[in-house]
Amino acid sequence: MSITAEPIARLVQALSKLPGMGPKSAQRLAYHLLLSPDAEIEELAASLLSLKGSLVFCSQCFNVADSDPCSICADPQRDRTVICVVERPSDIPPLERTGKLDGLYHVLNGCLRPARGIGPDDIRIRELVPRLHSGEVKEVILATNPTVEGETTAMYIRQLVEPLGIKVTKLARGLPYGAELEYADEMTLGQAINSRQEF
Ligand SMILES: [Zn+2]
Repeated sequence: MSITAEPIARLVQALSKLPGMGPKSAQRLAYHLLLSPDAEIEELAASLLSLKGSLVFCSQCFNVADSDPCSICADPQRDRTVICVVERPSDIPPLERTGKLDGLYHVLNGCLRPARGIGPDDIRIRELVPRLHSGEVKEVILATNPTVEGETTAMYIRQLVEPLGIKVTKLARGLPYGAELEYADEMTLGQAINSRQEF
């Protein structure tokens, strides 16, 4: 028989599946929650339950949003001549915080991982092309992660975009190789945007 009460064991198991969460931290978090006020637990549970139900993918940029189109695509002030391509929705907030991009985004929702069998049809890569046919877009900024998979993805996109005669740029180095955009600080990311180079 287990020494851990079943509801706690169940929570620990669920928490352990989260990224960056080992069994020990899952257990610590579970006991922390157990001792938290009821109102906090209810708020957490409610926000988890509404997470999937109330979110949609923007049909233009494939960002997760509470409306379609998302607030960025719907904003008439945004520069429609620039599209910045990112791997994940969570890459957008750090780029926005730099204050250096005021164009639109295209969220791939993944990257090419040939070793794991993830190809172009598994992510939103081909959906970028029709967006470029309006003639409005003058620059595509590739902001995939500086990882092997991110580079592979960037090169694939360049091949798609170049024949259309649109400038392709990529965030400058300065971002440590192997790092993830989501965790880059604003200074580094801002500089990478400013010194982006033709790719
Ligand atoms: Zn959008």
